[in-house]
Amino acid sequence: MGHIIDTVATLTDHRDRNALVDTLLSVFHGLLGASRLTLWNIVDRKGSVWIRRRADFGSPRGEEIEAPAPQPSNMLIPLETCGALRDCFNSKEPSCGAAGPAGGVRYVFPVMDGQEVIDLLEVTRSSPLSHEQQRMITGMLRIYRNHLGILDYGDCDELTGLRNRRTFHDSFARLGSCAGCQEKCNNVRTPCARYPYLAVVDIDHFKRVNDSFGHPFGDEVLVLFAGLLRECFSDHDRLFRFGGEEFLVILDHATMDEAFGALENFRNRIEVFRFPQVGPITASVGYTRVTGGDTGASAFGRADAALYVAKQSGRNQIRSHEMLVADGLIQGKIAVGQDVELF
Ligand code: GH3
Ligand code: MG
Ligand code: MG
Repeated sequence: MGHIIDTVATLTDHRDRNALVDTLLSVFHGLLGASRLTLWNIVDRKGSVWIRRRADFGSPRGEEIEAPAPQPSNMLIPLETCGALRDCFNSKEPSCGAAGPAGGVRYVFPVMDGQEVIDLLEVTRSSPLSHEQQRMITGMLRIYRNHLGILDYGDCDELTGLRNRRTFHDSFARLGSCAGCQEKCNNVRTPCARYPYLAVVDIDHFKRVNDSFGHPFGDEVLVLFAGLLRECFSDHDRLFRFGGEEFLVILDHATMDEAFGALENFRNRIEVFRFPQVGPITASVGYTRVTGGDTGASAFGRADAALYVAKQSGRNQIRSHEMLVADGLIQGKIAVGQDVELF
């Protein structure tokens, strides 16, 4: 009993979602003994349901205990092709079956958010779980989900549901792991080198929307705008509402062409979209390549300088900080003074 309470305390100590997931799986491993544990995220994209491996832990037969995968694969797999996982998702109930030709038992437990399955926990073992162990897993998954809900509440913008400004620092700090990849890309001088990019997206003349149609219609535009951001960017990219009508996009590992293409696709989507009552609106974008030594403030400073040029040049356009520097239109260094509080 004391052990379980310690476990719950350990789990709910976390504020970082990756650490929370790793701890959840290691806790299960400690409580269940030799098992292979995989947490799958459900990704619903325009009506098609996919799964993505979020984290792995352990080994079914206990011959070797592996550390959690440091970089879980981002590959999306159609749920339809994954029998046991699909069945659990559809029934919203734990399922149990043979693990495969090598023997063993496979359990799949749903992680529920209200009526919706948001994750699936797959447990593979050589021996069956007791009834008590199954109850413990179900209970612990509820604690995990409740804790995640509290974290989400603090991290989300109330109006649009995007991540809020406060979470930008953490997300940006996690890009640190990409810095090594950047150096490698520089070394081999691959023409298609991939980097993270940071874009600042700002709705043009948004004040006019409020002035002409009223604040509630302005809010409605913000909600729809956020929906279009979600629609246009990959779920590897990170989206934030940074303030009023200003949004940030962290593009994950894109080539220069891909970054521009994704942003241009979004700009175009906004241009052709007709907002109820309000009609057409446009957005301007400034963006920059994120380098190894960047902080959130330094990258934001560059993207924002590029956005300023986009606004000055007539709005409804995208400007890259690197291009503007290369063309001599702005200076290369953006000074972010010690006393300038950007965040
Ligand atoms: P620009 O093209 O230069 O960006 O002009 P703009 O009018 O979009 O920018 P400005 O900064 O002058 O005005 C932003 C407006 O956004 C002013 C503010 O009232 C409005 N705003 C900020 N937050 C919200 C919100 O949550 N809801 C609504 N409806 N309006 C908001
Ligand atoms: Mg604006
Ligand atoms: Mg603005």
